[in-house]
Amino acid sequence: MQNLCVLGATGSIGKSTLDVVRRHPDRFNIVALTANRQIDELVKQAVEFKPDYVVCANPDDYSLLASGLAEEGLSAKVLVGQDGLITVASLPEVDTVMAAIVGAAGLAPTYAAACAGKKILLANKEALVMSGDLFMQAVMKHKALLLPVDSEHNAIFQCLPASFCEHRDWSQLGIAKILLTGSGGPFLKTPMAELQHVTPEQACAHPNWDMGRKISVDSATMMNKGLEFIEAHWLFGVPKELIQVVIHPQSTIHSMVQYQDGSVLAQMGQSDMRIPIAHVMAFPERIDSGVAPLDFTTLASLEFLPPDFERFPNLKLAIDAVEAGQWASTALNAANEISVAAFLDGRITFLDIARINNEVLEKSASHVLSNIDEVVAYDLQSRELANRVLEGL
Ligand code: NAD
Ligand code: MG
Repeated sequence: MQNLCVLGATGSIGKSTLDVVRRHPDRFNIVALTANRQIDELVKQAVEFKPDYVVCANPDDYSLLASGLAEEGLSAKVLVGQDGLITVASLPEVDTVMAAIVGAAGLAPTYAAACAGKKILLANKEALVMSGDLFMQAVMKHKALLLPVDSEHNAIFQCLPASFCEHRDWSQLGIAKILLTGSGGPFLKTPMAELQHVTPEQACAHPNWDMGRKISVDSATMMNKGLEFIEAHWLFGVPKELIQVVIHPQSTIHSMVQYQDGSVLAQMGQSDMRIPIAHVMAFPERIDSGVAPLDFTTLASLEFLPPDFERFPNLKLAIDAVEAGQWASTALNAANEISVAAFLDGRITFLDIARINNEVLEKSASHVLSNIDEVVAYDLQSRELANRVLEGL
């Protein structure tokens, strides 16, 4: 029996995780569930999965959550705030932490899980983008097992030899290239002149994947691929020259590894996050994810194209941030969270997202980040700068 803590249980990844758990009650036991604001959904999940702990990020929701659980006759402990998230991510009885909070809010509990030596199923890419080497050092020092949920990184991981997990040394593996695929999102072929006027609803209507609103906008600007580029750099320890972004509009191939002998290994499947989630949950075994297999007789052609940095300036900003250093990735991630939230609120246009991100990077100075507290402080400082840039637009 694997004891699970699901951070961000009410989100898109959280719900898919619970769907896999539901199919395998003999394998997984839920110890803790957490959410930000969706208290009704959280109580409903608690009724079904009977966790020992339930956490809401917002302390103001304590009474609502506590009374909701009491009405259902549940005696789970209720914790609140970042401290509550950190507590459940490091409980001794928890084996595995699903890190599925969106954005920088996930850093502290995910880092705590690393320091507690947990098996971490990483969906919250922003946490790794913000903290890079510091996060990986904590994973290594505390012998945590870090497994990628992000479909591309999960695909790459599946295409690497099993020995990668033990030594994490890509240079011994004969890798020529990591081919990071991305669909190009809903605006891959939209005339450039129309991008100025696209709405949050259009941006969130991803052609292949059903996801939370922040990552949907990131997919539309291709900042998501940029964050994934940084994520791949840290997760697999490969230099940026070895990572190549390839546009593949059908999302049938979820990413590939090209070896020095010319072989290319690809992982394929339906665009359903339950596949990578089930993979990391059962790793190194395989279990049913509830997803239908690919039917090759009905697949249309598979297309591949190079990325267009003029259409997707955010992608270029992220790739360049790897070169500039950790401070640049941290600043870019912070700016992007502010600009995407402003776009979703209808305060700025779609094209303003990249403008703000770019200006924040231009106005940020190189800065050494030597521990997580410094990362958090620099993230806050970059958010303030992004808000000032936004107000000046
Ligand atoms: P979502 O918006 O659907 O869910 C986010 C979850 O985080 C919710 O449970 C929410 O309550 C919680 N949350 C939000 N703000 C919080 C805060 N301040 N403190 C504590 N909890 C908070 O997002 P999602 O689409 O499930 O994405 C989650 C993460 O997984 C993101 O980092 C995303 O990039 C990554 N990811 C998602 C997908 C996908 O298909 N949805 C694919 C790959 C990676
Ligand atoms: Mg992805």
